[in-house]
Amino acid sequence: MHHRTHDRSLPHASLTEVPPLSNDPQTLAQDLQGYYTHHLGRDRNCRTTHYIYKALVLTLRDRLMERWKNTRYAYQDNNGRRAYYMSLEYLMGRALGNALLNLGLEEEIDQALSMFSLDMEELEACESDAGLGNGGLGRLAACFLDSCATLQLPVCGYGIRYRYGMFRQHIRNGEQVEEPDHWLRDGYPWEIERPEYAQRIRFGGRSEVKREADGRLSGRWVETHDVLAIPYDVPIPGFRNGTVNTLRLWSAAATDEFDLGEFNSGAYPESVSAKNDAEKITMVLYPNDASENGKELRLRQQYFLASASLQDVLQQWVGIEGIDMDRFAEKNVFQLNDTHPAICVPELMRLLLDEHCLSWDEAWEITSNTMAYTNHTLLPEALEKWPVRMFQRLLPRLLDIIYEINARFLAEVSSRWPGDRDRIRRMSIIEEGPEPMVRMAFLAIVGSFSVNGVAALHSRLLQRGMFKDFFEMWPQKFNNKTNGVTPRRWVAAANPMLTELISEQIGDGWIDDLSQLRKLIPLAGDKDFQQRWLTVKRDNKVRLADLVRQRCEVHFDPDALFDVQVKRIHEYKRQLLNVLHVIHLYDRIKRGDIQNWTPRCVLIGGKAAPGYAMAKRIVKLVNNVAHVVNNDPAVGDLLKVAFFPNYGVSAMEVICPGTDLSEQISTAGKEASGTGNMKFMMNGALTIGTLDGANIEIREEVGEENFFLFGLNAEEVAGMRENYDPAAIIAADENLARVLQLLESGHFNQFEPGIFDPILRALTSRNDPWLTVADFADYLKAQRAVSQAYRDQEKWAKMSILNTACSGRFSTDRTISEYNDEIWKLRPTPSLSAK
Ligand SMILES: *Cc1c(COP(=O)(O)O)cnc(C)c1O
Repeated sequence: MHHRTHDRSLPHASLTEVPPLSNDPQTLAQDLQGYYTHHLGRDRNCRTTHYIYKALVLTLRDRLMERWKNTRYAYQDNNGRRAYYMSLEYLMGRALGNALLNLGLEEEIDQALSMFSLDMEELEACESDAGLGNGGLGRLAACFLDSCATLQLPVCGYGIRYRYGMFRQHIRNGEQVEEPDHWLRDGYPWEIERPEYAQRIRFGGRSEVKREADGRLSGRWVETHDVLAIPYDVPIPGFRNGTVNTLRLWSAAATDEFDLGEFNSGAYPESVSAKNDAEKITMVLYPNDASENGKELRLRQQYFLASASLQDVLQQWVGIEGIDMDRFAEKNVFQLNDTHPAICVPELMRLLLDEHCLSWDEAWEITSNTMAYTNHTLLPEALEKWPVRMFQRLLPRLLDIIYEINARFLAEVSSRWPGDRDRIRRMSIIEEGPEPMVRMAFLAIVGSFSVNGVAALHSRLLQRGMFKDFFEMWPQKFNNKTNGVTPRRWVAAANPMLTELISEQIGDGWIDDLSQLRKLIPLAGDKDFQQRWLTVKRDNKVRLADLVRQRCEVHFDPDALFDVQVKRIHEYKRQLLNVLHVIHLYDRIKRGDIQNWTPRCVLIGGKAAPGYAMAKRIVKLVNNVAHVVNNDPAVGDLLKVAFFPNYGVSAMEVICPGTDLSEQISTAGKEASGTGNMKFMMNGALTIGTLDGANIEIREEVGEENFFLFGLNAEEVAGMRENYDPAAIIAADENLARVLQLLESGHFNQFEPGIFDPILRALTSRNDPWLTVADFADYLKAQRAVSQAYRDQEKWAKMSILNTACSGRFSTDRTISEYNDEIWKLRPTPSLSAK
């Protein structure tokens, strides 16, 4: 072997200290060429847009990479408290437009691309949405990460790298058809694999518990079947501030061990193929929004995320601070996004007890001072419970710990309320019965120092209803954090024309200080500004109409009122109420009752959980009604209806700028917050809505005269339950009777007899939990007010401007500032190379 002699007189070169990259268009263009040609190996015979997209991402990723490193160094130097956002879902959408905006490189990249006559929009379309979430909860996590980076807070997101994200929805014969979302097929160029930080996750086996002489419970978890968790890091850039935070997504892989018995008996392929089972854990996202199905694989996913992430944090702690855990709770906080990661509570206990040899009291002091829990729903069917037997089989050591947590907790309850057996039964983490269950929400509350709801009403209802007993015991734990959305993605990136118009008037400071939008209030009555505002809205409506034509094959006239309801399909969100109104409008047209008519285009979109039969039937109804309405020559342009297939983040980026009317019509008390409502408001849509979730706060901000309110409030809904009589309401309301008669007659299902009977039965049942029929008349009245308001375009423009102007509160920058001030208490820490 030949060894080159090392010249010791030269200083050591550093692998990691490199001069900053240049961002001039010329350099960017060269980097793009280099990646395309040298890294990706393309030549002149192969000019696929996809590879150009990839080369562009790699060019930008380099710029993110240096800021990422400098952010990590800054957090290290600062050595302050850190937060970890624990979530089974991140509905990220596309990253390219967001990275360009946040890096502030839009113009430079435009120039670089123009050298090759490349079109940005075409390249952006090459990226598949990262659909690692169902709906609002997952999108909230994504908006939160954007705001944390923008506020320069040391927050790391932990999640799962599902091989298949949210299914793709097709409509065939009016019905939803699901197709797997193989979003990683062409690779995901934003992610960096970090095998050096892999963790080992245990499952199965059995637990050996011993009470030591000093009273300490020591446990051993033996004969486990282990799986590896491999982290993939995704960069999360802040808005033009040099900060890049991390989203760490775990992927499951087999350990290198082998079943020796099988191997020696010659079954080599069998012993290798058994390893496929490991990878199943992170194969697919469960597509249930607001309901649980109790599948074992889902519990595996939850534990996999919890254990990998906690081990990762502890390993970093030991790497820096050594084995002393005294200050761990002072320096770390975990925010649990719903109960999905609630198993973090017993898992942190296990790691501290079994791996770090702490006493129970020491471990509990740390755990219960580092966990914070966010509740996202009041729907009982969404409350997670796991059979004790499943826990016993899958995570026996965790079950020991949960029992011990519960025993000590119930002792506390009992000393506070002596003899109150019923209270103990109600509050127990273990629900007794033929199949005992672990109540994950109670586990989360007991193990956390903070419990929050996601809108004022929701937080109040939690304290008075579902969590009443816990509120009585620990009122100081409970608080509210009204949700938000990031104005970077939802206004600055999604609505460039509106962004330009606003910035021209008030500067661009609003993009990371959304309260500045208030400066638009004095302009709301300005005729000239109103005209420009309406022109931008119309251009966005043309863009949306184009998309609707492509995707739904329905013609929307941009001068009509665009009336939009897009969100997961669920009975509580009451897409049915919307459809009843559409049928009523159709009925009026057929009757010739069209004086002072306001033409409307109604767009409804959203995915139904594949196992939710009623939701799928609602999708079918929307499609059938659309078919009848759109093909009736008597209707013409007075009314159009379309079902938007495969609703997701990228679709919403076109939909919300082009919307006039935002439908937020859930049964009061059922929608915890809603965030779609906020995206629409920021983009100048008016809301028709109930007093539910954040609608209440939206109406307070914009003023009741700029919001179309209808329906029962949450108290009235609760009070209506016993003596709800839909038959009487229908008998007394001719409009409603005619609508239901049309439905019943089979007018919308001529060759499919009876398919909408389940819907009719649900609507007319005395036990309908969603009280759709009860709100119909008032909804109609509010819709008439909408139609009338729209005919006065000046008035409409003023209301629209005021909606945007008053939307500042609904930035996640405000939400995250509140999380930080009241729960996390992190020090904002600029990146070392702050731009
Ligand atoms: C914002 C958003 C949601 C949440 O909408 P809600 O109306 O609050 O239910 C769901 N899905 C996507 C893709 C979103 O962007």
